[in-house]
Amino acid sequence: MVRVRYAPSPTGTLHIGGARTALFNYLFALRHGGRLVLRVEDTDQARQVEGSETAMIRGLASLGVVWDEGPDVGGAYGPYRQSERGEHYRRAAAQLLEQGRAYRCFCTAGELEDERQRQRQQGRPPRYSGRCRELDADVAARRAEHEPYVLRLRVPQQGSTVVQDLIRGTVGFENAQLDDFVITKPGGTPLYNFAVVIDDAQMAITHVIRGEEHLSNTPKQMLVGQALGLEVPAFAHLPMILAPDRSKLSKRHGATSVEEYREQGILPQALANYLLLLGWSSPDGQEFMTIAEAGQRFDLARVQRTAAIYDQKKLEWMNGQYLRTLPAAAVAGAALPFVRAAGIDLSQGPTLTAAVELVRERSRTLRELVDNMRFLYQAPTTFDRKGVQKYLAEPVASERLRALASTLFTVAPWDHDHLSQAFDQVAEHLGVKRVLIIHPARMAVTGKTVGPGLFEMLAALGPEKTIRQLNRVADLLDRAEELPLSPALD
Ligand code: GLU
Repeated sequence: MVRVRYAPSPTGTLHIGGARTALFNYLFALRHGGRLVLRVEDTDQARQVEGSETAMIRGLASLGVVWDEGPDVGGAYGPYRQSERGEHYRRAAAQLLEQGRAYRCFCTAGELEDERQRQRQQGRPPRYSGRCRELDADVAARRAEHEPYVLRLRVPQQGSTVVQDLIRGTVGFENAQLDDFVITKPGGTPLYNFAVVIDDAQMAITHVIRGEEHLSNTPKQMLVGQALGLEVPAFAHLPMILAPDRSKLSKRHGATSVEEYREQGILPQALANYLLLLGWSSPDGQEFMTIAEAGQRFDLARVQRTAAIYDQKKLEWMNGQYLRTLPAAAVAGAALPFVRAAGIDLSQGPTLTAAVELVRERSRTLRELVDNMRFLYQAPTTFDRKGVQKYLAEPVASERLRALASTLFTVAPWDHDHLSQAFDQVAEHLGVKRVLIIHPARMAVTGKTVGPGLFEMLAALGPEKTIRQLNRVADLLDRAEELPLSPALD
């Protein structure tokens, strides 16, 4: 039975790297009919952020990741928070001490720093010298004095520890390079490389799938596992996610947390789909997939070793595709919070679903979508600068808008084809090409130079609002008033 886990530390929001790791674990579990465990790694009290666990759980759930066991759903291998598993770590530490596989180290931070200084001066790599390895006689006395100590693992000085990584192949580490690392802090708090091994074994984890930044921890965890006589799981390290310039991904490349993507107006389905392509590709080259579909095809052998490059443009493009293909009512539901935030009063225009159908072809995010539908509910208060210069600056502009308004007054039924004919008539009457009517009309009614087809838009807007807005802008132009300009978007 395949058992995998996603093990976040609740130190902030759900970052896309973590979300991708969770997703790949879930896909692997789906593919093999296994189980996904959510484990909260909260031993480092100082780094914890209040509310982080809840935020992470919400972020994961929004992406469609479903775990079988975890702090919120329980399970047979709990508890699932490290802070509640102290007993297990204490027992394992006692076992290692008793068997001489770990030892107490009383070195102070100052002493260790002096040691590293000396090594650097001698041109040697700084590492723990092992000077508390054989303190035997001293230990009782120093403990009686309540001198604080840490526990260190007694790492074999020879040989190597070899990771058989399911993605990266064989990766060897010289044991001599891994000094006797600390497994518990003074007071007995377990460190990550210790606790994780005990948890993975006790939770019967078969495969550890996680980010490449943990590859260097793996030999340490294998050594801990061996010292405790535990079965070591299989390992698979996912490639890093880098920015297009191959630098570390940061805020300036776009959002980095799942929460921020939601605020930007990225649909969770689109984000999940995009994330599952960050390092994995489907054998048939298919890019658009639900998680369930990806779960049928997922294979660690198709996870790349080279870094995955994050591309915000592609994410937005994918999101645009989702906006276009999901049922309009589902998009409307997702858009509703943005509609509210934009102060749009839905009673002043068509249903939200109808508005979505009208503008979704041209929108990449829910924000854009809502911005593009705003004119249906409220007359534009600002106008695109370039559009004003290009289409409304000529003295004849107001005359054309008025001519159009009076012709539109007679249009019945008010639909695409009749509107189109009316524009033809006006153009003929004024002796100009039709586009010279269309562009100023679009600017007057929406404040923008681009958008869905004008006749569809006017059909949705209705005669009263259309005619009123054409005349209103004509008035403003005649009075030579400056049209209020919208802040440049592009
Ligand atoms: N708590 C670790 C992290 O958030 C998990 C590492 C692991 O998967 O072993 O990076």
